[in-house]
Amino acid sequence: MPATMMISCPSCSTRYDLPAQRLAADGTVIKCASCGYSWLESRAIEITSVNPQQLPAVIDHDYEPDHEVRRLVEANREAQ
Ligand SMILES: [Zn+2]
Repeated sequence: MPATMMISCPSCSTRYDLPAQRLAADGTVIKCASCGYSWLESRAIEITSVNPQQLPAVIDHDYEPDHEVRRLVEANREAQ
């Protein structure tokens, strides 16, 4: 069973078990499948062996951090 990392949405506290290898070392942008909130997950919180059941809708690697933050701010603004 692959190592997974437990993350939780800062907005609605929905929890996800994410395969650890899908997280970039310098941070991964996660979009909550429950409320649509996007955030930059940059630290391992907890390694679990729980089988992944729920995954965030969007996982982006290879992004320009400044550009990505700007894009998320725009996306959040449009969503409101
Ligand atoms: Zn959420």
